[in-house]
Amino acid sequence: MVSPLALDPKKALEVLLQLTARLADDRPLEEFLRAVTDASVDLLAADHASIRLLDTARTALLSGARSGSGEEDRPMSFRRGEGVLGWVVEHGEPARIDDVEHDSRWVRGENQGFRINSIAAEPLWSSGEVIGVLSVTSPERAAFREEDQLLLRLLANCSAPPIERARLRRLAMFDDITMAFNHRYLVPRLVEEMERASRSGGDVSMLYLDLDHFKRVNDRYGHATGDVVLRMFADRVRKAVRRVDVLVRRGGEEFVLIMPSTGATQAHATGHRIQQTLHEAPFEVESARIDQTVSIGVATWDKRETPEELERRADEAMYEAKRLGRNRVVVASPRDLVG
Ligand code: GH3
Ligand code: MG
Ligand code: MG
Repeated sequence: MVSPLALDPKKALEVLLQLTARLADDRPLEEFLRAVTDASVDLLAADHASIRLLDTARTALLSGARSGSGEEDRPMSFRRGEGVLGWVVEHGEPARIDDVEHDSRWVRGENQGFRINSIAAEPLWSSGEVIGVLSVTSPERAAFREEDQLLLRLLANCSAPPIERARLRRLAMFDDITMAFNHRYLVPRLVEEMERASRSGGDVSMLYLDLDHFKRVNDRYGHATGDVVLRMFADRVRKAVRRVDVLVRRGGEEFVLIMPSTGATQAHATGHRIQQTLHEAPFEVESARIDQTVSIGVATWDKRETPEELERRADEAMYEAKRLGRNRVVVASPRDLVG
């Protein structure tokens, strides 16, 4: 009897065991995805394997990981319902196609970097919802048998829940427009830095940054351009500060920068440096050149206040900067201690 596996059974078991061990760890999402596509190429003797995940709006299928031929090429983009992969996600059903040219769902790709004649794909299910699709392809016709499809289903079933967990962890940590930390990380991260400063006797400072007249950017160029400006702003801030400084998107067009081991003078200087990088060049989005300024409040932890109290002082200093005419840095006065 022909073995149902492309690999010899012992090798196949080793690949599966290694994969399940890797999926059991709390690794970053990319590592999970890559482990699954690598294992798919090995187990199914596929030319190429890929995972695509639905975006947060659940309309686009974003490329998550690819292994095998063409892994360095730019992936095609698909919408839900489009092409074979889009069909699998839309219907929550597997697909196995022996000759893609004779399948009406097939969308021919330009410059994919590798040839596809047959394809097998399985939906990734997590908590009763399709979150994406795992697929393997081959330049041969009829490369995948029914057993291959079942093996692919096994891979999809055991990898979808850990993939979804890693994705949710990622979503909870970063804001997807600016890739700054999500506001939920502000207080826990401040608590950590305050504890560290208490032990080492160092300082912690905070900048509260609010873009000036940002509503006008949206009104004039549209919300999508506004989003790009937010992203470019976050990029400039990250370039202007140290790697240890933590940029958090507080909400809307407001950011907080946590600065470990930093006193008021140095924090004030960093605020100026950020303003300087905005003055040096406007943001160029398509044909628009957008001059953007920012108002910044600076507060240094007084070793007693809570994270919320520190943030309030920085926020109040930022408001003072607005009141004084915007586009400036204001250092907060110490907290009035009652009793
Ligand atoms: P000020 O100088 O007083 O801060 O003026 P402002 O226009 O920046 O402040 P305001 O609070 O009136 O408006 C903030 C604007 O930020 C309004 C809102 O449309 C925009 N905004 C908030 N979040 C986002 C976002 O995620 N994307 C985009 N494009 N705009 C956003
Ligand atoms: Mg604001
Ligand atoms: Mg503003």
